[in-house]
Amino acid sequence: MRLDLKRDFETVPLTKEEALDILDWDDRDLPTLLDAVYKLRKKYKGNTVGIQILTNGRSGNCSQNCAYCAQSRESSAEIDTYRLVPYEKLARDDRLVKEKGLARHCIGLSGISFTDEEIDEFATYVRSLKKESGTHICCSIGFLTADQGRKLKEAGVNRINHNLNSSRSYYPQICTTHTWDERAANIKMLQGLGFEICCGGIVGLGEARADVADLLLSIREINPQSVPINFLLPLKGTPLESQDTSFLTAEYCLKVLCLARLMVPASDIRCAAGREVYLKGRERQMFMAVDSIFASGYLTAGGQGVDDTIKVITDAGFEYMVEGT
Ligand code: SF4
Repeated sequence: MRLDLKRDFETVPLTKEEALDILDWDDRDLPTLLDAVYKLRKKYKGNTVGIQILTNGRSGNCSQNCAYCAQSRESSAEIDTYRLVPYEKLARDDRLVKEKGLARHCIGLSGISFTDEEIDEFATYVRSLKKESGTHICCSIGFLTADQGRKLKEAGVNRINHNLNSSRSYYPQICTTHTWDERAANIKMLQGLGFEICCGGIVGLGEARADVADLLLSIREINPQSVPINFLLPLKGTPLESQDTSFLTAEYCLKVLCLARLMVPASDIRCAAGREVYLKGRERQMFMAVDSIFASGYLTAGGQGVDDTIKVITDAGFEYMVEGT
């Protein structure tokens, strides 16, 4: 343990070397690190945890080759493929967000680019959702042109998710059909249009710890409203199906989440994919850094997954944040 945890991380930001110290933190001293991180979490987020649900708005048939993704052109995973989810499905999920007071409705659309007609059609959907329930909407929607971004902003999309996924130098190992720089430029453009930004990454792609540090340093420069951290779940049929994830111990995952909180203390830090696998039984420690999660299994009838997710939060001694209260 080399880093002074009493230091004010907001006025004296972490260097790369110090970020690596966090990732290499001795597991036996993890409680001390979590205590320091919890002070920042408490300052900005109190004891509350926000829940989001994700609707797959467009599925499969992507032209890109992101190695972790079941929807990529390289993947043989058996998944549903469709161009645009029926409006009624989107509206049903949106009503669930409203009824349960969830933080927001995330809508993910596969693919890297969209025609203007596709954006117009989707914008019509968004307008109707906003009129019906007025929930906070976040879209993951590839690379937009500035005009397309403006259309979606005008329709009511509040936030755009666009992940950097890994460090700039490691990115070519996981995708060669577009570049990290294109992702970063797209985020910058959308931020300039006034969107809130959700930007995170995936840990466990075969990267070195220095890549995780670099990723989070880049995210700090963007200063997004939310930072989703995914821990790789190797999917059958994808190039990463046999990826070794044995180093994704609960302790390592907690250190990554602590580093994210120290880097961008005021942002939502979301533990996304992999939470139920790598951090099962460690939720109390996880919530010392994290203030946002996805509902798991929310697609089951009656929103049972949302209720289960609320229980995970309250059992861990935290509060489920109801929007609008
Ligand atoms: S661009 Fe998105 S949908 Fe397409 S392969 Fe990459 S992650 Fe998957």
